[in-house]
Amino acid sequence: MPAAISLDECRALAFDAFSRAGVCRAQAEETADHITRAEADGCKSHGLFRLPGFIASVRSGSADPQAEPEVVDAAPGLVAVDGRRCLAPLSIARGRVLLAEKTRSQGTACMTIRNSLNFSALWPDVEPLAEQGFVAFTFVNSQSFVAPAGGTTALFGTNPMAFACPRGDGRAPMIFDQASSATARGELQIAARDGHEAPPGAGLGPDGKPTTDPSEILQGVQLPFGGYKGSAIALMVELMTGGLSGGCFGYESKAAYKGDGGPANTCQSFIAIDPVRLAGPGFPAHVEELFGRLLADGDARLPGDRRLANRARTAGEGITVEDTLYATVRELAGRA
Ligand code: NDP
Repeated sequence: MPAAISLDECRALAFDAFSRAGVCRAQAEETADHITRAEADGCKSHGLFRLPGFIASVRSGSADPQAEPEVVDAAPGLVAVDGRRCLAPLSIARGRVLLAEKTRSQGTACMTIRNSLNFSALWPDVEPLAEQGFVAFTFVNSQSFVAPAGGTTALFGTNPMAFACPRGDGRAPMIFDQASSATARGELQIAARDGHEAPPGAGLGPDGKPTTDPSEILQGVQLPFGGYKGSAIALMVELMTGGLSGGCFGYESKAAYKGDGGPANTCQSFIAIDPVRLAGPGFPAHVEELFGRLLADGDARLPGDRRLANRARTAGEGITVEDTLYATVRELAGRA
């Protein structure tokens, strides 16, 4: 029987668990908030499910729970962040302030982050930029789990990217947020836990043969979505993250990984653009015309609409947490 809790309780449990593990207030607040936003939007694979992993990375010494990220004003349009092995939500929050300032003042800016432990969903990272009126991209790599198209050896991370577009009239931004692997790793872990099959094409077993058994894929390799096209996106994400930040590519993250079940040392990058500087004040109305045409066509919907519907529902109803996970989280928070 899943436990029913409010979003405030979710945030408090996560914050207490981090504090009890010795995580400083700033990292604990940002990461607890990130987890709660994932739960609020119905993204179970990146909500409380990730809490034990984050704490494992603190206990193993992979994460530095007291680290304060270094934010460098690298050039007029560039921000370079060294997370110093903090939990990623803090390095993102710290760097985003300068990224937004630069985008506002000159129309566009780019930010890289290295040495930051990320295994979260990405839409919460770009949503605050779109809420300030900016179009925004973000890219994150992970330790390598995914073989390139045609290969059988893990080279790329599951390498998600998210894109956000602001909307007029107080509407929430349109955001898509997707892994470049055929299936997010968290989804495979949940499928293995719950005894479900993985979708065909998700990966290969340790014998290099295609399988739909999620446990076999977790021991073998995942595959990119869409064959060589997804493989090219995964390659781009490696270059935009490990390459541009001067941090780790996915295989370098994996080589340094302590096997603690938490996030590896990964990299992220952002591009933010003020669309009104390019398209003029008609941008929001023009965008709505496009969205309207899409929505008028059969069952087509905008990416993110499912999440936003969940958000509207959980704001009143709260969330449910699978019972074993709830017991673990309560124990970590000192409330067993
Ligand atoms: P999904 O395939 O579930 O969804 C990808 C995107 O497609 C979402 O924006 C979703 O919107 C949208 N979408 C889904 N169905 C439709 C539809 N019928 N019409 C229009 N849009 C649709 O995501 P993934 O499994 O690829 O990734 C899940 C999460 O895992 C992401 O948040 C990602 O950032 C995270 N991740 C994090 C990693 C890390 O290391 N930090 C690594 C890999 C993944 P909606 O949400 O509204 O359904």
